[in-house]
Amino acid sequence: MSYQYDLVLHNGTINDPLNNISGEFDIATKAGRVVEVAKNINSQKSRDAIDVSGLNVLPGLVDLHMHASAWLGGRFAHKMLALAGVTTALDMSGPIDSVLEIAKNFGCGLNIACINYVRPGVTVANNNPDKAELEELLLSNFKAGAIGFKILGGHYPLSPEATATAIGVALDNGAYLAFHAGSTATRSNLEGLREAFELVGNRNIHMAHINSYCRGRVMDCHQEAEEALRLLEANPNVVSESYLSPINGTSGECKQGLPISQVTGMCLEAGNYEATEQGLEEAIHAGWAQLNEETGGIVTLSSGPQAVEYWRARKTDVTISFAVNPEIPKLRIATARRADKTYVVDCISTDGGGIPRNVTVEKGLALVRLEAMTMNDFVLKASYNPAKILGLVNKGHLGIGADADMTVVDVNTLRPVMTFNKGKTVMYKGRVFAGRTTMITTPAGKRNVESFGLNALLVDSSETPFCKLR
Ligand SMILES: [Zn+2]
Repeated sequence: MSYQYDLVLHNGTINDPLNNISGEFDIATKAGRVVEVAKNINSQKSRDAIDVSGLNVLPGLVDLHMHASAWLGGRFAHKMLALAGVTTALDMSGPIDSVLEIAKNFGCGLNIACINYVRPGVTVANNNPDKAELEELLLSNFKAGAIGFKILGGHYPLSPEATATAIGVALDNGAYLAFHAGSTATRSNLEGLREAFELVGNRNIHMAHINSYCRGRVMDCHQEAEEALRLLEANPNVVSESYLSPINGTSGECKQGLPISQVTGMCLEAGNYEATEQGLEEAIHAGWAQLNEETGGIVTLSSGPQAVEYWRARKTDVTISFAVNPEIPKLRIATARRADKTYVVDCISTDGGGIPRNVTVEKGLALVRLEAMTMNDFVLKASYNPAKILGLVNKGHLGIGADADMTVVDVNTLRPVMTFNKGKTVMYKGRVFAGRTTMITTPAGKRNVESFGLNALLVDSSETPFCKLR
């Protein structure tokens, strides 16, 4: 004889828009799946049971934009995601080898996918790679376990021609393609976004962090937000996310007296500092630039003379944040809808992970409290839509047979309280548990992922928007 259930959560309010459930129910799991959603499930038949009265039980949150590599985000990203209520997330730059290494050594039982950057001088020879070079890169990315390309145009631009070629190479090979707008002809701003839509044409891609092009660098930031939304409405082939934190995240690394990221230079100028290494040092000293510093097992923001020392000790190779995201445009972008009531921007993401801005629950639930969206809308944007974009048909909802990935939140404190991945506890009241990472990968990457001792979850690219979201 064995228990009928592994886990029962009692008396929570379940929000599952896909299955049209929004009300007080118990939910039971067995062998990693949801097996029952009903009133009064008998907890004596369950190995474990938790009373979640007064809390909301949501499908596990899926963060479609985060960073968890040694290059960006760092080793505490998994813990920070788990503490923030996330169960599944997409690393939006790689490098894949480092993402796997961190997933192996610092995993907390999350599901992680990775797309690898196309970066001049690092993964491609220069800013004008040809089709053959890009095809070779994609093939090696697949083998390593990544599911596609990230074009980092805003930071490390390619020529417009090479950008278009990279998009074509990814989509022709069933790869995930995300684009941080910008090229050698434009920058990471609304002009870059306009150019990006031209380069994409009618192809299906993921346009990264829509709010980040609306910082008032080209015109008034509110007008920029409206134009970005119009571009998305006119191009339903493009899926997108935006984040709710006031801070960005960029590289503090300098070479020959200059920041190597174009975005870092722009942020310095926005704060009236020179776009040089000297200007960056002054900005860190004064607090306009905030270092992402590893302290006490997580990453926190720091500035002042001690932060300058930390940055120098690491030869300037430290992630830096600037408070450059104006309030109203990011709220408008997060809540804007089309005439048919669907959201113009599909997902709320964080661009966090190891960058300390994992505020989807805190800020998203604040929008629910303000009645800017319903809890079911929040679930659509923070779980169902991103799961669908990743091709994860068993996630993003709590239907019978779905993966028992759940995030339990408290609307009163705006905090995640506990999370479960396939029924196993990932986070419980601020404590994070060790657990093997599951890498979302393709058949080509399965072997390498498993050689790191990680689980492999294979996605079928025919289930992703890169083939057929709309
Ligand atoms: Zn990012």
